[in-house]
Amino acid sequence: MTRLRFAPSPTGFVHVGNARTALFNFLHSKHSNGQLVLRIEDTDLERSKKEYEDNLIKDLRWLGIVWEEGPDKGGAEGPYRQSERTGLYNEYAHKLIDAGKAYYCFCTPEELEKQKEEAIAAGRPPGYSGKCRNIPLAEAEKMIKAGQEAAIRFAIPSGVAVTFQDLVRGEVTFDSDLLHDLVIIRSNGMPAYNFSVVIDDHLMKIDLVVRGEDHLSNTARQVLLYRAFTFPLPKFAHLSMVMGADNSKLSKRHGSTSISQFREQGYLPQALFNYLALLGWSPGDETEIMNADQLARKFNLEKVSKSAAIFDYQKLKWMNREHIRLLDHLQLGRALEPFLRQAGYSFPPTDEQLQWIGKTASVLSSYTYLLGEMAGEFGQFTSIEFPEGMVRELRDNERAYTVISRVYEAIAQMKSPVAFQEIVTITKTIQKETGIKGKELYHPIRLALTGKESGIELSDFIPIIEEGSILPLTPAVQNMKSRLEMIVK
Ligand code: GLU
Repeated sequence: MTRLRFAPSPTGFVHVGNARTALFNFLHSKHSNGQLVLRIEDTDLERSKKEYEDNLIKDLRWLGIVWEEGPDKGGAEGPYRQSERTGLYNEYAHKLIDAGKAYYCFCTPEELEKQKEEAIAAGRPPGYSGKCRNIPLAEAEKMIKAGQEAAIRFAIPSGVAVTFQDLVRGEVTFDSDLLHDLVIIRSNGMPAYNFSVVIDDHLMKIDLVVRGEDHLSNTARQVLLYRAFTFPLPKFAHLSMVMGADNSKLSKRHGSTSISQFREQGYLPQALFNYLALLGWSPGDETEIMNADQLARKFNLEKVSKSAAIFDYQKLKWMNREHIRLLDHLQLGRALEPFLRQAGYSFPPTDEQLQWIGKTASVLSSYTYLLGEMAGEFGQFTSIEFPEGMVRELRDNERAYTVISRVYEAIAQMKSPVAFQEIVTITKTIQKETGIKGKELYHPIRLALTGKESGIELSDFIPIIEEGSILPLTPAVQNMKSRLEMIVK
């Protein structure tokens, strides 16, 4: 059984690029009946915060990603937070020291900076000079006993070709001479990423590592560590980066980048899930709108593109609308509800209310893409705001006023919800009796009911306000009668 992991560092908001890495791991694990582990890489004590971890878990869950083991769930290979595993890393680092494959390094930050400058001045690639490599172990241990601080470095073997198989990129080879001895345990006792990741992936029995291609050269270092320990090598798949339209790494300049921002704007999780799944992968047919199960069934890591994936906001919006259209009224009502509350509307969240709210969303989906936009448009259903001068114009226009007052008279005694069909019948009678027809007949009704020259079809709008007016919503929904009264009275 394939075991995969998603190993984020909880240092801030969850970037869509990372969410997409999590998603590809999830899709592959579902596709192959594997297991997914969530591991929190929180050894950077200054940047990692528990609150970020909580948000991360919340965001991944919201998106629909499910893992079998993790800090929130436990599991046989835990703990799943690196900060709770530091003893292990130290134990393994000492195994390397004992085998002569790692050494104590006493270089101070100033010393390292100096080495770097010297290397650059001499035209060599900057990197550790190897200064402490030859300090005999017994001497190094004495220095430590005497209170000197030391990091532990891994001695990169020279002249070795580091080759690994990548499911996305094929065979990848690095020359070990381009790599420098790397710190595996910092002087504060915390492990460095390249080290803890190897120990954990090995102990957690991970056999496929899927992550961003920004880690490719790290993988070369990690492969050397696997070899040093004689751990079996997992398979790798490095995903291309997510870029903005200008081909630079997706960042704030391009628009929203964090999962929470998309959620707050009113993207449905299933739409973002669908979109991210198709970012650099395609099922090879024309199907685009898919749910998680369909995506997992078709997903194939080996078909993932090597080239950068461009994040297309318009496409995502479109996809959101498509997913909105797949929901029934109750589901849609549930999705829109929090946005309406946030916008100041309140109502008892019974199925009846939610069904009606879902109906409004379904109508608004012809004009908007996001739930947040819908909440912004919702006010037209609760009350009417006439633009300046419109009431007077409608009163002064004899034919318009005739239509409006006749409609009003006809419905004044009716109880809401008045069916749209009633308006059809009434307008027919008005046409017969007054000869007013076509636009001259319908346009004044639209203006009187909506205050707008154009917009939602009256056949959609009227049922919404009529049905809404009898529900306990705050603010209450103005029905036709109350809207027409503002002109007629
Ligand atoms: N903590 C690393 C990151 O967030 C994990 C990389 C990996 O998957 O190995 O970039």
